[in-house]
Amino acid sequence: MSILIKGGIVVTQDKDRKVLVTDVLIEKNRIKGLGKRKASEADQVIDAKGKVVIPGLVNLHQHVAMATMRGIADDVTFDKFLEKTFAADAKRTPEDILEGARLGCAESLLTGTTSLLDLYYGEDIIAKAVEEAGIRGFLGWAILDDDKTTQKGSPIKNAAKFIDKWKGSRLVKPVVAPQGVYVCSEETMLKARELADKRKTFCHYHLSETRGEVYQHLSKTGKRPVDWLHDIGFLSKGDVAAHVVWVTKHEGKLLADAGTSVAHCPTSNLKLAVGGTCPVMDLREFGATVGLGTDGCASNNSLDMFMEMKICALIHKHSRWDPTVMSAQQVLDMATVEGAKALGMGAKLGSIEAGKLADIAIVDGTRIGMAPTTPKNAVSNLVYSCSGQNVFCTIVDGKIVAYDGQLVGKE
Ligand SMILES: [Zn+2]
Repeated sequence: MSILIKGGIVVTQDKDRKVLVTDVLIEKNRIKGLGKRKASEADQVIDAKGKVVIPGLVNLHQHVAMATMRGIADDVTFDKFLEKTFAADAKRTPEDILEGARLGCAESLLTGTTSLLDLYYGEDIIAKAVEEAGIRGFLGWAILDDDKTTQKGSPIKNAAKFIDKWKGSRLVKPVVAPQGVYVCSEETMLKARELADKRKTFCHYHLSETRGEVYQHLSKTGKRPVDWLHDIGFLSKGDVAAHVVWVTKHEGKLLADAGTSVAHCPTSNLKLAVGGTCPVMDLREFGATVGLGTDGCASNNSLDMFMEMKICALIHKHSRWDPTVMSAQQVLDMATVEGAKALGMGAKLGSIEAGKLADIAIVDGTRIGMAPTTPKNAVSNLVYSCSGQNVFCTIVDGKIVAYDGQLVGKE
């Protein structure tokens, strides 16, 4: 099976960040190459004239099954938010989780996301929705202390079972997800580390999201969360920590030196008024990889990565009193190449180049709100003007999974 995407404005995200008006040929699940070709060379042709062809977006932190929990805990304090979402979570049936995951996967694909990093319990159910929709799911089974969980049985054992069942799947990569230091003891964190290392996967966890969390940990252990994680020997290369708002420069350096990446979630942080901003520029300077995540629908309340990109650019410009920082190109990098790198997939995903996996989104640049889109302003329009509603087609692993507002990947 081959697909030719013809005549679009291709935002390659290659090392030179080239934007070209050209064709993209996909063969099986890979990008065969860029350059003008005859329509007869492919089994299927997508006319992309006036459209922008971009690498599929990487949502580096979310809780996809919470899509049906949209609007359940708005305009309340952080504690009240946790209370409401935990109470709703505790009542959910497997059917509820499946329904939520289906909705979340649909929203992700229809708004141009092709890879998502998830943190939740019941990932075995979410994995089914991921396969069914045809999205790439890096699914982290939530781990917390046995006496704090609503999961049946031990979270560590549940996670191990999940990993063993789903390893080797085409689209699902199982991940270990210690929820956060506020519900994970030293023993639990280290068991999670051991499990991830033994099964050759990585850990994804919430980290230093609020000042309250940091001070609580300080009074409990005498150490700030990142310092503590470093001292207990948890920090590791290839992990992804979400939020990372309330960290000192020293903690930022510890994360960067350990090779731990960061998922920046600006909308969720703004809405829950955590009062700080993830120090993305500092983290980058220290050598850390920083991607972008929406967080779950209970706190965002959207999985639209285009909106997330815009908010990301704005929050950093505003908080630094400097419109020159966090350019559209840097933000698009976070949602594509940097996100892919954080997932350990930098060589396979994140850009449109020959040999890479064919994960691509096609955005209609002619619609009201996007027009005029040219090769010159394409990157700016994607970040500052676009919404996920302008996504015309999404391709994952060489397969068209969303087209003209409909999911079409189901076999
Ligand atoms: Zn989260």
